[in-house]
Amino acid sequence: MFMLKRAQDILASVFGYPEFRGQQEQIINHLVQGGDALVLMPTGGGKSLCYQIPSLIRSGTTIVVSPLIALMQDQVNALRLLDVRAVALHSGLSFEQQMTIQSGLIRGEYDLLYISPERLLTYRMLDLLDGMTLALFAIDEAHCVSQWGHDFRPEYLQLSTLHQRYPHVPRIALTATADQRTRTEIAERLELGNARWFVSSFDRPNIFYRLTQKREARKQLLDFILKDHAGQSGIVYCLSRRKVDELAEWLRRHGVQALPYHAGLEPEVRHRHQEQFQTTDNMVMVATIAFGMGVDKPDVRFVAHMDMPRSIEAYYQETGRAGRDGLPATAWLVYGLQDVIILGQMLAQSSMDPQMQHLERQRLTAMLGFCEMSGCRRQALLNYFGEQREEKCGNCDLCVEPVATWDATEAARMALSNVYRTGQRYGVTHLVDVLLGRPNKRVTELGHQQLSTFGVGKGLSQPIWRSVYRQLVARGYVTVASETYGSLLLTEKSKPLLRGEEQLELRRDRYDVHELKASLPEQHFDGDEAKLWEALRALRMTLARERQVPPFQVFSDATLRSMMASRPSTPEELLQVSGVGQFKLEQYGKAFLEVLAVHVRVSV
Ligand code: ADP
Ligand code: ZN
Repeated sequence: MFMLKRAQDILASVFGYPEFRGQQEQIINHLVQGGDALVLMPTGGGKSLCYQIPSLIRSGTTIVVSPLIALMQDQVNALRLLDVRAVALHSGLSFEQQMTIQSGLIRGEYDLLYISPERLLTYRMLDLLDGMTLALFAIDEAHCVSQWGHDFRPEYLQLSTLHQRYPHVPRIALTATADQRTRTEIAERLELGNARWFVSSFDRPNIFYRLTQKREARKQLLDFILKDHAGQSGIVYCLSRRKVDELAEWLRRHGVQALPYHAGLEPEVRHRHQEQFQTTDNMVMVATIAFGMGVDKPDVRFVAHMDMPRSIEAYYQETGRAGRDGLPATAWLVYGLQDVIILGQMLAQSSMDPQMQHLERQRLTAMLGFCEMSGCRRQALLNYFGEQREEKCGNCDLCVEPVATWDATEAARMALSNVYRTGQRYGVTHLVDVLLGRPNKRVTELGHQQLSTFGVGKGLSQPIWRSVYRQLVARGYVTVASETYGSLLLTEKSKPLLRGEEQLELRRDRYDVHELKASLPEQHFDGDEAKLWEALRALRMTLARERQVPPFQVFSDATLRSMMASRPSTPEELLQVSGVGQFKLEQYGKAFLEVLAVHVRVSV
């Protein structure tokens, strides 16, 4: 009971938050009492507090294992702004700085030490740890132990030895991975057999999902940015480095502040771009998936995909970087069958063993299926990760504007029998030429104008036939062959449809959602409100520059919005605003109250 009160006090006085979110309180309580925990919580769910608060309650130092210097530095900076004694040890520091920190550690001067796994597991470091009082081990981004993930870090595997060496120090592993297989892997590999699992809902209610067919992808993207997210931070993912460079350049020419990021750029350039993205609130980063784990910017207002990700797991992880601060954000994507073909070829050329390839191919088809679904996106996404959700969400493109469908039974049968007649050897372009009865060179050379399916599809247009084939792939009636250039093969599932024993409804293609605007919660301010908003942001920027930290570390957008809503005029009132703790009040309170005072309240 006493502990709980203590946690509550720290939450309010240090972090400035009135209440715990989700399972934070149970997790903290469990750790404070010495238990191990595996915490599965979506991005933006508030994982950090789960070990930061225990680190302030338990005596000794909490060791936080983190995979990237950028992540450690961000967290340490944010904690320093709250007057918490946190420090990071990494190769970016001078020898003297490292020595100073180490002697500080021996004297017990820090509540939290952030460190990479490889450094932690050196003899030197373990020796140092032997002489310290240890409060807790926190293993952040724990999915890095998974060999199958994109973020695999071999050093994470060694972390299980911590338990053998320090059996009495509680451990907490945290991740935002929604993938069941990876979760089990984490528990096994980190030897967290006795840990209690804390699994939160993986829903990200503030993210609006919006997926459409590719037509003129760049133009579609530009329309989207200008209409819905002008002047805001966002990430645009592309499959190739070349595409990243070209698109960033093209966006700049069209008035969007955009920077490229991929593994082919010089490290300094990459670093500079990341820095610029992190420290501003209106930059678009065009990137390959190399831009990932280190991104913990809370005010990313959209994540756009110019190419389909390779799985729903990857899609969820990448889109999860939007809206960490809980304010409305959009996950936008354009896709086409070509994406499936290219990704399939990349798979075929990879060194993966056949069984893995097969699995990955299934994931790819599931992703296309997700793009092509009707119903509710959020429901489908959560169900995919094993979370049942009965109601529609009302906050995805398909809920806002249900997609039109048509009876495609006849068309699908023609399309499938055409695949069969042509010998299951051709891609969509040729198949559609045959259906439309186009006697071009290829068709003539192959003698395909003799086939019974030649010209039977004249009643429908080329885009519709392409759409039919794409949806047949998405629903598993045909698959794309991996070895050849996108040729289609019939699957077992196609038989009843071919025999006329099954009906099929398909979606009508659409390239934009029209009723969208009305559904997006208001994000912009007008008139005097806008002036105050800009003044608050400007002050935040000045303070951030002086302290050389990103603006959101001074106060988050959510905190500024609460100030707009409650208009505090005294320090006591300001302290009531979520995100304003004791130390920040002392540091910035006066300046913010002054800005608030000069803007007269707009009458309601
Ligand atoms: P995660 O690591 O799970 O992605 P963070 O720990 O970075 O999430 O938290 C996301 C945001 O939510 C941060 O801005 C954090 O300060 C805020 N937050 C965390 N817990 C609470 C809470 N109980 N009340 C209000 N805001 C919170
Ligand atoms: Zn929905």
